[in-house]
Amino acid sequence: MLYFIKDNIIHSLPAGRRCKVAYANEKLRDTIPHGVKECPFCMNLWPGE
Ligand SMILES: [Zn+2]
Repeated sequence: MLYFIKDNIIHSLPAGRRCKVAYANEKLRDTIPHGVKECPFCMNLWPGE
């Protein structure tokens, strides 16, 4: 899984099905750095999915 950070929130690529983020050539990473928020849609933190 690859990740990218937008506005200090980390998303997966491809983004989660319900995530509305638009990937725009942000730097891709394969680890989750500390100090960023995790997108609940991309990171499967959203309940009921
Ligand atoms: Zn997301």
